[in-house]
Amino acid sequence: MGTENQGYPNFPARPPPPSSSSPFASAPPPGGAQTVGFRPPSSQPTRPFTPSGPPMAPPPVGVMRPGQSPFVSQIPGSRPPPPAYGGPPGGGGGGGGGSFQRFPAPPPPFPGSQNPPLSGPPATQTLAGHLSPPMSLRPQQPMGPGGYASPPGPGFQQPVPPVNPSYSGVAGPQPSFPGYPSNQAPPVSFQSSSQGPRPTYPPQTGGFGQHPGQQNLHPSYAPPTSNVQGLAEDFNSLSLSNIPGSLEPGLDPSSFPRPLDGDVEPNSFAEMYPMNCHSRYLRLTTSAIPSSQSLASRWHLPLGAVVCPLAEAPEGEEVPLVDFGSSGIIRCRRCRTYMNPYVTFTDSGRKWRCNICSMLNDVPGEYFSHLDATGRRMDMDQRPELTQGSVDFIAPTEYMVRPPMPPTYFFLIDVSFSATKSGMLEVAAQTIKSCLDNLPGYPRTQIGFITYDSTLHFYNLKSSLSQPQMMVVSDLDDIFIPLPDDLLVNLSESRNVVEAFLDGLPLMFQDNVNVESAFGPAVKAAFMVMNQLGGKLLIFQNSLPSLGAGRLKLRGDDPRVYGTEKEYTLRVAEDNFYKQMAADCTKFQIAINVYAFSDKYTDIASLGTLAKYTGGQVYYYPGFQSSIHGDKLRHELARDLTRETAWESVLRIRCGKGIRCSSYHGNFMLRSADLLALPAVDCDKAYAVQLALEETLLTTPTVYFQVALLYPLNKLRYTASCGERRIRVHTAIAPVVTDLGEMYRQADTGSIVSVYARLAIEKTLSAKLDDARNAIQQKIVKALREYRNLHSVQHRLGSRLIYPESLKFLPLYGLAICKSTPLHGGPADASLDERSAAGFTMMALPVKKLLKLLYPSLFRVDEWLLKPSADHDDLKDVLRRMPLAAESLDSRGLYIYDDGFRLVLWFGRMLSPDIAKCLLGADFAAELSRVTLQEQENGMSKKLMRLIKKVRENDPSYHPMCLLVRQGEQPREGFLLLRNLIDDQMGGSTGYVDWMLQLHRQVQQNA
Ligand SMILES: [Zn+2]
Repeated sequence: MGTENQGYPNFPARPPPPSSSSPFASAPPPGGAQTVGFRPPSSQPTRPFTPSGPPMAPPPVGVMRPGQSPFVSQIPGSRPPPPAYGGPPGGGGGGGGGSFQRFPAPPPPFPGSQNPPLSGPPATQTLAGHLSPPMSLRPQQPMGPGGYASPPGPGFQQPVPPVNPSYSGVAGPQPSFPGYPSNQAPPVSFQSSSQGPRPTYPPQTGGFGQHPGQQNLHPSYAPPTSNVQGLAEDFNSLSLSNIPGSLEPGLDPSSFPRPLDGDVEPNSFAEMYPMNCHSRYLRLTTSAIPSSQSLASRWHLPLGAVVCPLAEAPEGEEVPLVDFGSSGIIRCRRCRTYMNPYVTFTDSGRKWRCNICSMLNDVPGEYFSHLDATGRRMDMDQRPELTQGSVDFIAPTEYMVRPPMPPTYFFLIDVSFSATKSGMLEVAAQTIKSCLDNLPGYPRTQIGFITYDSTLHFYNLKSSLSQPQMMVVSDLDDIFIPLPDDLLVNLSESRNVVEAFLDGLPLMFQDNVNVESAFGPAVKAAFMVMNQLGGKLLIFQNSLPSLGAGRLKLRGDDPRVYGTEKEYTLRVAEDNFYKQMAADCTKFQIAINVYAFSDKYTDIASLGTLAKYTGGQVYYYPGFQSSIHGDKLRHELARDLTRETAWESVLRIRCGKGIRCSSYHGNFMLRSADLLALPAVDCDKAYAVQLALEETLLTTPTVYFQVALLYPLNKLRYTASCGERRIRVHTAIAPVVTDLGEMYRQADTGSIVSVYARLAIEKTLSAKLDDARNAIQQKIVKALREYRNLHSVQHRLGSRLIYPESLKFLPLYGLAICKSTPLHGGPADASLDERSAAGFTMMALPVKKLLKLLYPSLFRVDEWLLKPSADHDDLKDVLRRMPLAAESLDSRGLYIYDDGFRLVLWFGRMLSPDIAKCLLGADFAAELSRVTLQEQENGMSKKLMRLIKKVRENDPSYHPMCLLVRQGEQPREGFLLLRNLIDDQMGGSTGYVDWMLQLHRQVQQNA
């Protein structure tokens, strides 16, 4: 077991077989007195707990025993404690790591040594690329009348439907790779060098389909002037394609398209419709909506969108706030669409027509304004809701089923042996304490704690106490809540008691040798405490739940299950307890975030279910040790606690006539067919949706989308608006087209990849990994084939692989999805927990963050470090990304690999010792797995640390750990870096070249 791996689990990291001394043994403990050795945190006077009438059989006060915490009182009648488990559970700890990582196959030979290093970033785009000229479309006016079914109004209390047992099922009808509409765009051909005469490109005949009577709508889509810099490569001629790794002479992999500029959003859409909401909130997979089902079926890519309703806006671009005052929020009578820039006013300003359903509505007197000669309202410029795609409406009281609850934070903390030993308990307690001033909602914020091992420990935090009182409940089968009124307290009133509790917590359990985990009963207890208020439940779990409801067993250690039809069962929640609990929590507005820390099997697949269906998040620190992962936990927990969070939210996406949302993908629970219940939502959460045409033919020239999120506002500190409810509304329009080529031209790879990744991860929950990977490949093949067919008539394509400019990175991202932690390899390549944790995380990531994880940054820094330092270095120069291939690595260089979750510093074998000395000080020659990067007293080191700080600040949603590795340090180099070089063929995985050859071969079959 590789304990040297700073923060990285051992490979293959499978759970140890159960043994009689397994820490996970779930046999009921033998009788006996409470023997868990707590130490008094301080010499505070003992204050025994007096019961004030617990709901169930009132337990008499426990008797304090010498040596017991003054907080503790044992509730008689409860289950006796289990035997203390002596000694560390299981064999030593591997290091745990960044949030997740891809896994090592047998250490590959270092490829870089065979290839001459590149002397710079390879050319990125030798492909012909041409952007379509911006369309000069104008937002469309009224649609035809239509019987648009009106969704329920603002009553947000529908019952929660029964939880569908399948992961994807909860999100509604989600066929694994459901109807991918089909698409096409201007051909760009895949290049490689050895081509003869360049094929000429056909005049493009794209253009929006014109609807009768709407000639003025979609004018010139200039034909993609196939700027023929690079023409198609004849892949068919590559007879070597069957020999992995070998290339035909002349085929130049460096000419393959790579997203080295990160996520480049198609901007023609924004230019066409400046009143649309920003793409950070809503990104369609194609900005050209197919006019018919038959057209949609030929676009084999997903037709859908990624929505991130609370995305962080840069300074100065905040969403404007609109208060309709006495007239109330103005919405369409029929379909409940909110007032937006695309409605039209008629009848001298007395009526307005809904852009979604065409209903003609009255303008309330208070909202009336005269129209100018062009039909524009005179007050347009004072009305952000009529000019901007994103606004926040202040919601009047009728939008509230109850007054906004105070923001509530409840912590459920594992205090068993491993939790204390690893330092997790201490870091968590310190971090929570340090964030108390910044929890949103002051002074209304509520807070409470339960700790647990084989028993549950409740804490009375009443403000009149000087010290918290601890109450132990050990009857796990029949949980009751002692002192229900004083477990969840107002933070500002009980601040001193809360601080005393957090200060004392690590000490109190520092000698705890209990290795059991009554996780399920603890969650139940937290639910019972919280269900009046709802709020955020943060669970810190260090081992496999072993006692009471929801106890889990080791699974997945039988390799025979892999490759069979049963394989997927390892990746779904085992016990129905978890889904049921998640459903109950969602119903009562409780969002759960799961922090998991063990280097042993913890069944994240089951635990994460709690986060998935409650709008929460899974954080995973395998093999947590505070000396290594402490900073990461501190930052991520602090971010979780202090970022602006909306509780009790619901999200609905309305689409124009003829189109609807057919499935949703992400962390939430569907409350009704189209209403997403989000007990919590924040800026780091995105949701994917697929769209379907309801009618065979769309008769309108445009389609509208409106995303509405109802949420309570809880500012960081008290303000007048605290506790107010708001509705964030994002509105966008997209043209309807009759031309498949236009759909391809307007495709958004980032959005498509986000939908694909979610679908693929969901597929692993009902199918083999192989099947999920194949599904991705097949979808790409179908799209490319369709695209080829579009052009094969006009052009002699020969054996070239062609694809649209807008999708030039799609094949590579598809490969990256197949190589991502949830999908790659087989049983030995990633532990079940790593796969599950990565899957839960990726399901919630916004587009840019996901793309960076799929195709991380690699850049060289040694040359930059040697340059004289400037105060304001232009980081753009430094952060020039390189292809993720071993060829990019020069053994004289120093490189940083950054996937947004961790930073790996790769020291080339021939790197100047001076640089290594400057950066590592006395450790410069040491085995780097033992070295932590620290600032040294010299300019170069400070410069590097500044860079790392900057990289972290650029994206604060996670805190990437910094890991060091030297060229040739195996197997560490393999799993930290080499196996993540997407372009390369590693440990049995396909490289970029072979992947393209495979795609190309399949595209040509039956073409
Ligand atoms: Zn309407």
